[in-house]
Amino acid sequence: MTHVLSKSDRSYLDWPFFDQRHRDLQQQLDSWAAQHISDGHGHDVDQACIDLVKQLGEGGWLTHAIGGKTYGAATDVIDTRALCLLRETLARHSGLADFAFAMQGLGSGAISLFGAEEQKQTYLSAVARGEKIAAFALSEPEAGSDVAAMQCAATPDGNDYILNGEKTWISNGGIADMYVVFARTGEAPGARGISAFIVDAGSPGFEIAERIDVIAPHPLARLKFTQCRIPASQRIGEAGQGFKVAMATLDVFRTSVAAAALGFARRAMDEALHRATSRKMFNQTLADFQLTQAKFAQMATAIDSSALLIYRAAWQRDQGKKVTKEAAMAKLTATESAQQVIDAALQMFGGLGVVCEVPVERLYREIRALRIYEGASEVQQLIIGRELLKEFAATTSGEEK
Ligand SMILES: Cc1cc2nc3c(=O)[nH]c(=O)nc-3n(C[C@H](O)[C@H](O)[C@H](O)COP(=O)(O)OP(=O)(O)OC[C@H]3O[C@@H](n4cnc5c(N)ncnc54)[C@H](O)[C@@H]3O)c2cc1C
Repeated sequence: MTHVLSKSDRSYLDWPFFDQRHRDLQQQLDSWAAQHISDGHGHDVDQACIDLVKQLGEGGWLTHAIGGKTYGAATDVIDTRALCLLRETLARHSGLADFAFAMQGLGSGAISLFGAEEQKQTYLSAVARGEKIAAFALSEPEAGSDVAAMQCAATPDGNDYILNGEKTWISNGGIADMYVVFARTGEAPGARGISAFIVDAGSPGFEIAERIDVIAPHPLARLKFTQCRIPASQRIGEAGQGFKVAMATLDVFRTSVAAAALGFARRAMDEALHRATSRKMFNQTLADFQLTQAKFAQMATAIDSSALLIYRAAWQRDQGKKVTKEAAMAKLTATESAQQVIDAALQMFGGLGVVCEVPVERLYREIRALRIYEGASEVQQLIIGRELLKEFAATTSGEEK
């Protein structure tokens, strides 16, 4: 079965959020992915991921994951709509391909946004060509949702910093060439005393302490730093600004997590439509039952709602506007509803749906972590609530004047 979108499936690209270049880009990637990317991967997920990064680099797709034309990027500022369309399309073809693409962006995002000239030159074009693999190391065993509780410390020592501590759940951990690591530098308590650093793989005192296997396999690890010496020139941005760097990076990529969830949901819908219209039962097909049609109606509505929220947030960001609330709405809705869409699709497959490595079974595993990482659904709810209250307070204080 080909997973290139049909003309009617592509109708959402006519929405006013997009320019013609977005439509063309989506179509080019869709055809490229159909030719170059396979659904599954073998048991060596590390090698599969390394190969995918190389392929995506050679195909030119990674130029959309970084910012700065001087460093080989497609645009000076990351085009959020392009980023989301590319992730949605890759996710529809292969979860691992989407992961490989997304991590090149997230892992180098802090450099695109805040890096010094020399850092950009050293890292960004190599990331865009797929020659360096990137990772983003923020979470710790005792600091996940509560990022400001991080303990990993970077102590100044002459022209260097000495890094001690741990990071966990780090995607690309074990295969990355460079890690953007956030550590406490102590300028102020809590979120204001954190800085960001680029740590090259193989730096003395840096080790992969543990590889972690998860339900949808991809390279993941716990990192350990013991007296790891990092030149101060590897710090990204100002000392003490690391929390801002991390949040700004996540602000760009959060909407794209929603887009990946949308890609998974679209693929599940596609699989379910093929199955329901061909599966014979009770002298008709599964799709002929109104119960099935009602389920399809729910799935299609969930998909369109997610897409509208995602591309609203992406468009708004591309207009240079703040999207904290809109990106959180997109991520919350798209990831939660994709889980439901995929579950409904799997149900239509009956026993076949739970056979290892059939597409709906893979999607069922693939979607789960998206409701947790880059801010769990509960955290997105808190963000939306907080932003709404801020907006309300601003309106009412305006009324009083
Ligand atoms: C597959 C995968 C890949 C990842 N990749 C990376 C990576 O590349 N880099 C990186 O830095 N991190 C990464 N992470 C870490 C991820 O960002 C954290 O897992 C996430 O932030 C949640 O932190 P935690 O696991 O410590 O859960 P906890 O912080 O312990 O939260 C547990 C649960 O509590 C609930 N919760 C949280 N806050 C609240 C609240 N205020 N009110 C009510 N309930 C709440 C949520 O349901 C949450 O799932 C990855 C995680 C996974 C699973």
